[in-house]
Amino acid sequence: MEPLLELRQVKKHFPIYSGGLLRTQHRLLKALDGVNLSLERGACFGIAGESGSGKTTLARLVLLLERATSGEIVLDGKNAARLTNKETAWYRTRVQAVFQDAASSLNPRMRVIDIISEPLEIQREKLDRHQIELRTEQLIRRVGLSAATLRMYPHELSGGQKQRVAIARAIILHPALVVLDEPVSALDVSIRAQILNLLADIQAAEGISYLIIAHDLAVLQNVTTQIAVMYLGRVVETGNTDSVFNDPRHLYTQALLAAVPRPEPGRVKRAPALSGEIGNAMDLPTGCRFHPRCPQAQAMCSQIEPLLKTIKPEHQTACHLV
Ligand code: SF4
Repeated sequence: MEPLLELRQVKKHFPIYSGGLLRTQHRLLKALDGVNLSLERGACFGIAGESGSGKTTLARLVLLLERATSGEIVLDGKNAARLTNKETAWYRTRVQAVFQDAASSLNPRMRVIDIISEPLEIQREKLDRHQIELRTEQLIRRVGLSAATLRMYPHELSGGQKQRVAIARAIILHPALVVLDEPVSALDVSIRAQILNLLADIQAAEGISYLIIAHDLAVLQNVTTQIAVMYLGRVVETGNTDSVFNDPRHLYTQALLAAVPRPEPGRVKRAPALSGEIGNAMDLPTGCRFHPRCPQAQAMCSQIEPLLKTIKPEHQTACHLV
């Protein structure tokens, strides 16, 4: 079956200008640099990586908040770069978002009922007030809040309640895909599991696909079916989540996993924790982008960029030593 979403050699390069009024472009920040990704219908696809790896840029491109410099983003067989106005409205209905900081993504001057129902009005669904109230009441209960919450303002809600409202708003148009950018990282640890369980329930009931971005690998391990690990604008390892977590082959993935507390120590090959900082996307290392931090870098690693190769069905990695 055709995947729901495909990214084909997607690049996003930001020109960096200098020179005050007489601005001249003097550098390119290569936030994404040739990313391929395929998201099946009903899947939960995780994107992992440190800050600066390009994962948030990837989310912004999929949400049409930015245009790709080159490459193709294809949803349901339609290239996002060639959408008509009508198709763009269709795309924005099919793909919704939940961001990390619900407090700033919910309009503080609007009541919850209007926040949740706003997408209906933007998409010009012809519902009267009574129908909107019925629909939002159904949804607010679906995300575990009482109907009384609909009359409240965001400042009257806790962080977890705000994120539940953001989720209700994201699913009101029955999207095919929800992009979740660090959906639980701003929440107390005690609330995180509740929100992740809610997301899993909604996915099982509605068949929605998720693209979930998180720096916390424990979150991704629990909820995703596929995962891509990114480093400086490239995918360095990708595949079935169990395979990548239980048998990580890239030294960067191993180092990220070494930092995750595990109930069963020894089940996964341990690696030294990461040292140093992620590199500069304006001045990318030659060869393997990870080589300045890699404990096993060889001479060729600084000269030749490794390509993703299949090491098992549904598991690829980009390292010369694999
Ligand atoms: Fe390390 Fe070389 Fe593999 Fe890159 S290609 S991860 S530098 S061993």
